Amino acid sequence: MANASEVVTRRQQLVDRFARKLDKYFPETGEMKSWTISELEKSLMDDVTALARDVIELRLEVDAKRVSEVSPRCPDCEAALSSRLTPAHKHTLFGVVRYERTYGHCPACGRAFSPSGLGVRLREGLL
Ligand SMILES: [Zn+2]
Repeated sequence: MANASEVVTRRQQLVDRFARKLDKYFPETGEMKSWTISELEKSLMDDVTALARDVIELRLEVDAKRVSEVSPRCPDCEAALSSRLTPAHKHTLFGVVRYERTYGHCPACGRAFSPSGLGVRLREGLL
């Protein structure tokens, strides 16, 4: 989970990346590229879609509310769960977004849990 200054930095990286994409439409120097409307539409769709994926991924990464403040306990034996992050992905309107998902397991009885499973809340909010 990122702290507030990391969020500002990561947000600025997104802004800078999109600003660089705008350069192909509105170059600060040199000639403007000749576009057909169809080419412009296609290019914009690709750029905006990529931006949307980046926004979702960053939001998932830095959303402090995704981490439960309460240490989860095993619903079977009440032992404190251990957790680990694993890569995950989700198909969205903008394509596949990647994020880390928390999985918990109970060191006492060996049960395993996903955030959405069995009422054990390792993550809250988005996903
Ligand atoms: Zn247990």
